[in-house]
Amino acid sequence: MSSTKYKAEYAHANRAWSYPGARIRIAPDTATTVNDLNYEDFSDPRSSAAGVWSRRPGPAATDLIRFNKTRMDTYDGATRRMVAAHEFGHALGLCHKSGSGPNVVSSVMWPDVARSPDAPTDVDKANLKKLWG
Ligand SMILES: [Zn+2]
Repeated sequence: MSSTKYKAEYAHANRAWSYPGARIRIAPDTATTVNDLNYEDFSDPRSSAAGVWSRRPGPAATDLIRFNKTRMDTYDGATRRMVAAHEFGHALGLCHKSGSGPNVVSSVMWPDVARSPDAPTDVDKANLKKLWG
């Protein structure tokens, strides 16, 4: 079951990654579907991470996105949406992007929240297409 107070943020992430042309179809999270992506909140003032993604292995493998309330509650809405879209990108198999100078790309997969858009960019969409066809 998903239990997060950041429902608007994860709804944003679902929408942002369900763009026209995306091959990924994200099932609504209801009591009657088998969940493959769950959300939880936690509070850890010692962690600089606002969001943490992990995969629970096993026959009913599920992805888990955890929001750190200690960080999330200090962010504005756009930044919280970016965190949700970023962690969702991990759940879809994308890794962090980095670069500098002429190599810099606009990506929701930047590890630094201050530099990231709140929805997948053309670079992210191209990378997702490479992964999933
Ligand atoms: Zn990340």
